[in-house]
This record gives sequence, structure tokens and C-alpha cells, in this order.
Amino acid sequence: MLNRILIDPQAFVIKQETRHGSVLLNQLDKRTWSPDIADTATHIHYTLTGGVDRWQRPFLDLSVSGSLKLNCQRCMNPVDFPVNEQARIVLFDNEDKLDEAMLADDELDGMILTDELDILTLVEDQLLMALPISPKHDDCGNVNLDKVNQDKPNPFGVLAGLKKG
Ligand SMILES: [Zn+2]
Repeated sequence: MLNRILIDPQAFVIKQETRHGSVLLNQLDKRTWSPDIADTATHIHYTLTGGVDRWQRPFLDLSVSGSLKLNCQRCMNPVDFPVNEQARIVLFDNEDKLDEAMLADDELDGMILTDELDILTLVEDQLLMALPISPKHDDCGNVNLDKVNQDKPNPFGVLAGLKKG
């Protein structure tokens, strides 16, 4: 497995640092390789930025993007699944403050401030939340039709050819 990317979240926030990079899906924790993923050799891009919000709370802004191929749970053919996730994770010194803030705002993403934090763990968690429980094509029948059409010459083109002849 890939080396982890450790930061000191407190320093990261104070210096308003930004880190970005990309990682192959198959280098991430196996938790993210759901059996629905058709291709694990795909790049996942991330950006992490530290800052302080207007309530003076330290936060980490995380964005995770990539284009995954999942196995359609109906026809088992690959289905494209673009990932473009943004999250703000607010950091709290203790459990009480975290609980209080979470109760006041159910949209809030929070975690306890630790001495060390692994960026890739955040990326993995974000990916896991983004993955659909049961990926499916909107219309499996149409997907197959598209494929057939691409392989065959356009019938109107054939007709035009006949007329010319
Ligand atoms: Zn399908």
C-alpha cells in the first residue's frame, strides 16, 4: 500500500496550507474497492486546504475528484461514475464541543483535532460516502443499443452510398 500522507492539522490550519495530488484507487485502502468498481487503476485527485471559519473554528476543505467505472448491478456492464466531492471538515478540541456543534447543525462534518492526520484516510472516507449503494445505468437496454450502433455503419450513410452508386 502507498505511503500515507501525514499532516499536523493544527499547523496546517494556522499556515492555511494547501496540498494537492493524485493517487491511484488501487493504492488506497481496500475499503474503497467495493466489488462494484470495474476498474481500480484510475486516478483520484485531491486538494486539501486549511483555514479558520468566521466562528474562529479551524477547518479543512477537501475536494476529491475522479472518474470511476462501476459495474452496473442490473446488466453487469461498466457504468461511468464521475466523482466530484467537496467537504468542509471542522476541527474541534474535544468531544463535547463536537457533539454540541453537530446537534446545532446536522449538515456539519466535524472531527476531533489530533496531532497527526492522514490525508489519504480523508480521501478514502470521502470516496466511500460518494459511492452509490447499487450503481445502475439509467437504461441498460439503451446502453447496449449505443454500443451496437457504434459498431455498425450508419444506416443513412449506407443509403446515401447506394443512391450515389
Ligand atoms: Zn446496466
